[in-house]
Amino acid sequence: MCRVVSTDPRRTEYERNKLAKRLRRLVGDAVAEYAMIEHGDVVMVCLSGGKDSYTMLDVLMSLQRNAPISFELIAVNLDQKQPGFPAEVLPRYLDGIGVRRRIVEEDTYSIVKATTAEGKSYCPMCSRLRRGILYRVANELGATKIALGHHMDDVVATLFLNMFQGGRLKAMPPKLKSDDGRHIVIRPLFYCREHDIARYARERAFPIIPCNLCGSQEKAERKAIGRMLTEWDRMFPGRVENIARSLKHTSPSHLADAALFDFAGLATPQEAGSIPVRQLG
Ligand code: SF4
Repeated sequence: MCRVVSTDPRRTEYERNKLAKRLRRLVGDAVAEYAMIEHGDVVMVCLSGGKDSYTMLDVLMSLQRNAPISFELIAVNLDQKQPGFPAEVLPRYLDGIGVRRRIVEEDTYSIVKATTAEGKSYCPMCSRLRRGILYRVANELGATKIALGHHMDDVVATLFLNMFQGGRLKAMPPKLKSDDGRHIVIRPLFYCREHDIARYARERAFPIIPCNLCGSQEKAERKAIGRMLTEWDRMFPGRVENIARSLKHTSPSHLADAALFDFAGLATPQEAGSIPVRQLG
């Protein structure tokens, strides 16, 4: 997709405001549509130091200032003791913007390195450990919601990854109850595109922490899907948004999952009184 960059300062300011408004509107829509945040909620905002989580916190703080309901935000970062992690960056930023914060230090990096077989990805073990720690911290903080910074591109990429590798039609939901039933996870950036978030993060000059400190390589398949989405954005604008929209408009009778639709029970009025084939003979 061709994007023209303006050099006129007034135009640039206008574009900047437009982008900020769009992200606020999209987050507001997702929050309202899926009842992600309710009056009295304590929302634990998970911050990795990447562009997505900074943007999520920034937009949620803006919504909090203008919302007709009252809710609390607590920024939480898990310092996993990856080599070179600049531990001072997030506390300094969070104190500067005046948000309540908790920095959790847990050396999951050493555990992951010690337990992952040579040549295998660190990510599955790392994510499992991180999830467990974040759920524990949510309990300690009395958080009623856990906000994660996944955006529309993550949702669509996960949909394809699950189809390609697992043969399942399954993406990332906007709101999810944890397996133990004790936590509600929300994804306020569900409707936001990654390129918008990247631009917003640049314009707001968030102090981004590099995401390759763990040394784990992004999986080849995920990379390939990322390239596919980028290519679609260039060739067929709106396609990624349409795929994301399709997750809201499923037709179980036009898929093939017998758990969702009673294919066996399909009958015309004439057939209703006849004996099913499987009972004959
Ligand atoms: S990329 Fe690194 S930090 Fe992220 S889940 Fe994988 S191992 Fe963990």
